[in-house]
Amino acid sequence: MVEVNIYENSIAMNERMFKTSREQLVNRLMREGYIKSDNVKKAFLAVPRENFVPEPLKMQAYVDRPLEIGNGQTISAPHMVAIMCEALDVYEGQKILEIGAGSGYHAAIVSQIVGKTGHVYTIERFEYLAKRAQENLKHTGITNVTVEVGDGSEGLRTYEPYDRIYVTCAAPSVPQPLIDQLKDLGKLLIPVGSMYCELQLLEKKGEKILSENLGGCVFVPLVGKYGH
Ligand code: SAH
Repeated sequence: MVEVNIYENSIAMNERMFKTSREQLVNRLMREGYIKSDNVKKAFLAVPRENFVPEPLKMQAYVDRPLEIGNGQTISAPHMVAIMCEALDVYEGQKILEIGAGSGYHAAIVSQIVGKTGHVYTIERFEYLAKRAQENLKHTGITNVTVEVGDGSEGLRTYEPYDRIYVTCAAPSVPQPLIDQLKDLGKLLIPVGSMYCELQLLEKKGEKILSENLGGCVFVPLVGKYGH
């Protein structure tokens, strides 16, 4: 009995510690100008990043840097997730496609912004990571994210068209299928380059594609038919 109580107390202590660390990180990301809007702030406060990092790294969950998640891949740094959420201009009820599920964390954050009337589809090329992402999302109680395995450089035809598409790995150029699978007035956010790349925001306006360069960044490569 006593042992059970000690175990339960230490879980409660850990949860309090993680919650405090999460609040401190969000305050820092706001001070540094990465989190600007209320819906992004609320999403960051609602999603426990410790649920999306491997067990041995949990104590580093609120350090603002990428962490190894297996298969040589990383969960993005929180400030990069914040930059991308702010730039993508996401609304409640939207249908979103993410290329590169990784741990499922970024999709979890976006799922909070689109809410119960919206949905996030995310595609991952490694089956092992897709399975882990699915488990992480389930464990966190998130039900509006669907994880698929496949080559996301070709997009995900099954659920097109999308209001927003974002890519969490670096593409050599913008894959045409991603533009094709975007709704009119839809937006696509994608790092273009090799490891060092430029974050590009594209907007589809009828036949026209408007594009804006948001600055330099570092991502693992998009590997696939329209990738490296
Ligand atoms: N969004 C993730 C970050 C993952 S890093 C998170 O929040 O944790 C980028 C991911 O893109 C890696 O898991 C990598 O395996 C995946 N990836 C690379 N090329 C891909 C492709 N063609 N299709 C799908 N996933 C791809």
